[in-house]
Amino acid sequence: MLAGTPSGHTSNVGDEMRAIVTCECCGHRQAVARPIGRPEAFHVVCHECEGILRVEVTADDLSTAQKSVGRSRKTHV
Ligand SMILES: [Zn+2]
Repeated sequence: MLAGTPSGHTSNVGDEMRAIVTCECCGHRQAVARPIGRPEAFHVVCHECEGILRVEVTADDLSTAQKSVGRSRKTHV
């Protein structure tokens, strides 16, 4: 799970992994404007209320996202 972002989750855009972060203050959803290829933690600024959101991507998040990538590719082929 994404610590500090209760309703955050990862999704894939093209071949890159990107996190969708939901602001705890105003509920604004935004995509993290950077590819995520490995476990890491960073901060993003909410575009709505300018609050600081901490995003933590774990190895579990990445493997889960990669599994979903595999599923979506199967359905497309
Ligand atoms: Zn916000």
